[in-house]
Amino acid sequence: MAKLTLAAAGLAGAGAAVALSKKKQGEKTAGKRTKAADNYRNTELGRHEKNSKGIYYTNGNYEAFARPEKPEGVEEKSAYIVGGGLASLAAACFLVRDGQMPGSHIHILEAMDVAGGACDGIYDPNRGYIMRGGREMENHFECLWDLFRSIPSLEKPGASVLDEFYWLNKHDPNYSMCRATVNRGEDAHTDGKFRLSQKGCMEIVKLFMTRDEDLYDKTIEDVFDDEVFQSDFWLYWRTMFAFENWHSALEMKLYFQRFIHHIAGLPDFSALKFTRYNQYESLILPMQRYLEDAGVDFRFHTEVTNVLFDIRGGKKTATAIACKVNGVEQEILLTEKDLVFVTNGSCTEGTIYGDQNHAPAGDGEVRTSGCWKLWENIAKQDPAFGHPEKFCSDIAKTNWESATITTLDSKIIPYITNICKRDPRSGKVVTGGIVSCKDSKWLMSWTINRQGQFKEQDPEKVCVWVYGLFTDVPGDYVKKPMRECTGKEITEEWLYHIGVPVKEIPELAENSAVCVPTMMPYITAFFMPRAKGDRPDVIPDGCVNFAFLGQFAETPRDTVFTTEYSVRTAMEAVYGLLGVDRGVPEVWGSVYDVRELLESSVRLMDGKSPLEVELPGPLNLLKKGLLKAVKGTVLEKVLREHNVIKQGMLA
Ligand SMILES: Cc1cc2nc3c(=O)[nH]c(=O)nc-3n(C[C@H](O)[C@H](O)[C@H](O)COP(=O)(O)OP(=O)(O)OC[C@H]3O[C@@H](n4cnc5c(N)ncnc54)[C@H](O)[C@@H]3O)c2cc1C
Repeated sequence: MAKLTLAAAGLAGAGAAVALSKKKQGEKTAGKRTKAADNYRNTELGRHEKNSKGIYYTNGNYEAFARPEKPEGVEEKSAYIVGGGLASLAAACFLVRDGQMPGSHIHILEAMDVAGGACDGIYDPNRGYIMRGGREMENHFECLWDLFRSIPSLEKPGASVLDEFYWLNKHDPNYSMCRATVNRGEDAHTDGKFRLSQKGCMEIVKLFMTRDEDLYDKTIEDVFDDEVFQSDFWLYWRTMFAFENWHSALEMKLYFQRFIHHIAGLPDFSALKFTRYNQYESLILPMQRYLEDAGVDFRFHTEVTNVLFDIRGGKKTATAIACKVNGVEQEILLTEKDLVFVTNGSCTEGTIYGDQNHAPAGDGEVRTSGCWKLWENIAKQDPAFGHPEKFCSDIAKTNWESATITTLDSKIIPYITNICKRDPRSGKVVTGGIVSCKDSKWLMSWTINRQGQFKEQDPEKVCVWVYGLFTDVPGDYVKKPMRECTGKEITEEWLYHIGVPVKEIPELAENSAVCVPTMMPYITAFFMPRAKGDRPDVIPDGCVNFAFLGQFAETPRDTVFTTEYSVRTAMEAVYGLLGVDRGVPEVWGSVYDVRELLESSVRLMDGKSPLEVELPGPLNLLKKGLLKAVKGTVLEKVLREHNVIKQGMLA
């Protein structure tokens, strides 16, 4: 089987070379691996014992349908959950559903006046519709779907949020008919191809095979060069996931591994699924209703400024929460029976809101929760609480800007239809994921999800989500950096790229649309290069009543900038601290599935088999040997099914 894996990973040849060059390095560090690290891995292996965090991982559907027994002593316990975003609400739901904690014992402390955090979707009567983001989702968000199978839908009586989502995406599957444009609205004809050179593929394979510890504090620029950066693969990748060249090579690798089963679906987004409305309405509101029905206590306008610990003999106990309620300082005293969950860091912290006539700058409205300060105050107390400064100290590298453009009449619609080949007002999939303007200086991408994106939206209006990866360079029509542009100017730049005649642009931007820009200084903070310990473990070693949640807490193998990550950390935190005796679904194991490795390696090379790759000298002979060895076996069948062995290769 080892032989097959090597060939599959197409990793043929390329893989072997990398493995050899890394071997020596590996030998040096292998001995240093601690027992605890081995113990805290995200795989079903070792499931018969809980790991050092009090949890174990599982897969398959045996445990998926199991209901855990009530944890001992839960009636005497309570929970304080800092933040009211997806992670916190998920933690509260797991406490209620799996921990069977009475809802009245659960307190959610949120700095803002609304729940949902990054998952927003609001109609602001002064500005217009606002969505800072839209969530691309997939079927292997294991913890998230485990949660939403239990949350009643607000739309369909008797159905869960998962049922609603599942039915919707069956009837109206997502795929894109134009992934990228050039020359102002022309199809860029990326045509589902990655256009990676052999060297580019080798660089990706090399990264794929590199161990986490060898990527600490490295950037993507350290591991890729123009062979990757000039390819359509990189265009798809960075616009879809918002990676910049200076971001973490480790995170890039984790993404590649985590979503290896979606490589084929990358170019046309057939891998993605979307909710019916914006995620505030489709995900957050049903959770909030579920929790309110259970009697959970929501406390808005409550900014937590510190959690104080008693740390002795390796045991860490949270003893008090310092907070400001409507600006007034308060303290909540804790015992070991009070569990504390903190969402440390937020990608939408400090969002600056502009409007149609104002850029999100200067005296624009800024919404802050104090999340970095809180994490800094906690981190000062023990090294196990992480290093927030690694993520929040360089906003030049972590910002980008999005904008919600709402069309006001039908004048812009034909330009949209011309590109995405669908009527945006049908209520069904429209662009099927982002359309990237390949030659845009801002590297602008835009998307139109099913309309109305807002339940109460006027059916004639269309909400478009736009974002630019580079906010500090002048645009192509508007000669200003995006971050200095008003909503109207951003609409102008977008209209330019979708092919509206230049003379009509100012009029349409003024009267046929309204746009609300949102600058997010920390939107990719979690992609900053990092090393072990920068993100604290979900349950830091020694903590008896404290856990971190969300995108800046460490859990193995999963990838940040996803809703799944927030829900996963919530499940691990609750199960670990409360002693819920049920497996946490492991991160989907496609990276260990030889079929996915075969498929992705052929797709990555636009249909070329690893066996067609020219290898250095004598290594080519390996191919003949391999073909001979697999002939007439199950392996031949598998290799044929995934186009590694093609017609005529085996005489
Ligand atoms: C533009 C954008 C695009 C995205 N695209 C995708 C996507 O395609 N797919 C996907 O799966 N995910 C996507 N995400 C990511 C996903 O939405 C987030 O990762 C997730 O919602 C984060 O939830 P959270 O609860 O962990 O953190 P947050 O939503 O950041 O919530 C943190 C909450 O804690 C509160 N808080 C913080 N500090 C304090 C304090 N000191 N006291 C009290 N309250 C405090 C904040 O006000 C906030 O409500 C996207 C996000 C954005 C912004």
